Amino acid sequence: MSAAISVRGAVKRYGGITAVDGLDLEVPEGTCVGLLGPNGAGKSTTMKLLTAQAIADEGELEVLGYRLPGESKQARAECGVVPQLDNLDTTLTVEQNLLVFTHLYRVPRAGRREAIERALALATLSDRRDSRVDELSGGMRRRLLIARALVHRPRLVLLDEPTVGLDPQVRQELWALIGALRAEGVSILMSTHYIEEAERLADTVVIMSQGRAVATGRPGDLISEHAGPEAIEVYGPPERLAEVESDAERQGLRTRRTGTSISLLTLDRASGPLPAGERRPANLEDVFVLLTGEHIA
Ligand code: ATP
Repeated sequence: MSAAISVRGAVKRYGGITAVDGLDLEVPEGTCVGLLGPNGAGKSTTMKLLTAQAIADEGELEVLGYRLPGESKQARAECGVVPQLDNLDTTLTVEQNLLVFTHLYRVPRAGRREAIERALALATLSDRRDSRVDELSGGMRRRLLIARALVHRPRLVLLDEPTVGLDPQVRQELWALIGALRAEGVSILMSTHYIEEAERLADTVVIMSQGRAVATGRPGDLISEHAGPEAIEVYGPPERLAEVESDAERQGLRTRRTGTSISLLTLDRASGPLPAGERRPANLEDVFVLLTGEHIA
C-alpha cells in the first residue's frame, strides 16, 4: 500500500523550543490516522509542516508523493485542509463560500455545480445553501469548513482538531461526516486531543508527546501492548492507594492515579496476589496516561 503521507525524522524548532523532534509518521492511502497528544505535543506544528505553512529544519516529508517543501504547491492542490480556526467568509452564503473554493482549487467550470452539490450533501447543508454564514450555528459552520475542503475531491484531508470546543451533539455530527469521508476511501490525518474521537475514527492512532511519536498502532493493539487487557480500579484513602501502588510496582505492574483511585494495569505481569477492586477493560486513555503522563479529555 502506498502512503498518502510519509514523514521521516522531521524536526521543527522555534528558537530554543523544539516543537517537532524527530517525528516519523505514515498515513497509508485510504486510512484514517489520528494524531493524539496533550497540549504542546506538536500536533499543530506537524499539521503546519504538512501544509507547508512551516518548513521543517530537518527530515523528509512527502504528501501524496510530492516532496515538501519543494513540491508543496502541487501537494496542497490535491489536499483538503480543515483549519482549527474558522476562517469562513461570514458575509457570503454557504453556497458562495463553496463557490469561491471551487475557483481556488481550480475545479473546471463544467464541474463546479456538481462539486458544490456534492459538498453540500456530504455536510448535510443543502437546505441552508442560501444562508449567510453569520446566520449558521457553530456546528453548521464547522460542517461547512469541512465541506469547503472537499470541493475538489481531495484524496487526502488534513483536519486540525476538528471538534475542539464543540458540544457533544455537534461533535457526533462531525464524526458522522468524517466517517462518511472514510467510507469513500479518502485518506485522513486528524489531530485531536479527544481520546474518544481518535478511538472512534482512526484506523491507526499516533500518540505524540514532546514532538515525537511515542506509540503507533490500532487502538486495540496499543491497549493490549501497553496496558491491557484488563485493569483493576482500587478506591480508598491516600495511604491505602500508596500501599497498593508500591505493591503493584514491586510486581512490575504499571499503574495510574486519578484523584480517588488507582488503576492497576498490565495485570498479566503480576507475580503475586492482586488487591480487590473494580475490574474494567483497559482503554486508550490508560495508554495515553502511561505514555505521556498527561490527563486529557
Ligand atoms: P495544542 O493541543 O495546545 O494545540 P499542539 O500539540 O498542537 O498543542 P503545538 O502547537 O504544535 O502543539 O506546539 C508545540 C510546541 O511548540 C509548544 O511548546 C509551542 O509553544 C511551540 N510553538 C508552536 N508554534 C510556535 C511558534 N510559532 N513560535 C514559538 N513556539 C511555537
